[in-house]
Amino acid sequence: MIAENVKKVLAEIAGGNNLGEKITLVAATKTRSPEEINEAIDAGIADIGENKVQEFTEKFDLVHGANRHFIGHLQTNKVKYLIGKTALIHSLDREELAAEIQKRAEKANWTADCLIEINIGNELSKSGFSADSAIRAYETLCAYPNIRLRGLMAMLPLSEDEALLRKLCLSMREIYDTIKKKDNNFCFLSMGMSGDWRLCVECGSNMIRLGTTLFGPRRYPARQ
Ligand SMILES: *Cc1c(COP(=O)(O)O)cnc(C)c1O
Repeated sequence: MIAENVKKVLAEIAGGNNLGEKITLVAATKTRSPEEINEAIDAGIADIGENKVQEFTEKFDLVHGANRHFIGHLQTNKVKYLIGKTALIHSLDREELAAEIQKRAEKANWTADCLIEINIGNELSKSGFSADSAIRAYETLCAYPNIRLRGLMAMLPLSEDEALLRKLCLSMREIYDTIKKKDNNFCFLSMGMSGDWRLCVECGSNMIRLGTTLFGPRRYPARQ
């Protein structure tokens, strides 16, 4: 079933997003066993993302080769466990975290590829820089030599209001394009989960993070 789901989504996104850009599918693997994750990888998944450091670490050696993303909220005291191990950290959401990543990455002589997280719906329950402060945040975060900024990440609010979601997606793409114009490293707009990914790729997302769509319902609720 997992393999089938993976192949179906990969076929659906093969043509790219609305702008013709290649879409990267990141399998969101929280609560999934190494066996389930390996089934997805064997079916064609090249990128996997965990949202808790403990799970990231526990499963690290048990899953087949893939690019390892970190997609969840990251506490500063856990940064050390990710150094040298991530292809992309999606959740750079505050300057204090950047300072810690910088300190640890520099010590390890490593560069951390990161996305700036934007709280596009201005929700109290979510972290990230506000849309209004995104460009300023980018400029500030550029000062950390061991952090390479690769794009933006956002989680849309849970809402049935498609017009609102579309508006938020398009404003994310606008911020992304503004920065991309002056930064060649900027090439990922990570936006879209199981409930909203089609809308997101219609509005310029080129990286989606899918859990439920690939693996089915989670067996126990993951703490966000
Ligand atoms: C769990 C998770 C996803 C995937 O959620 P689904 O709704 O199961 O597709 C995407 N992004 C983040 C940050 C997550 O924690």
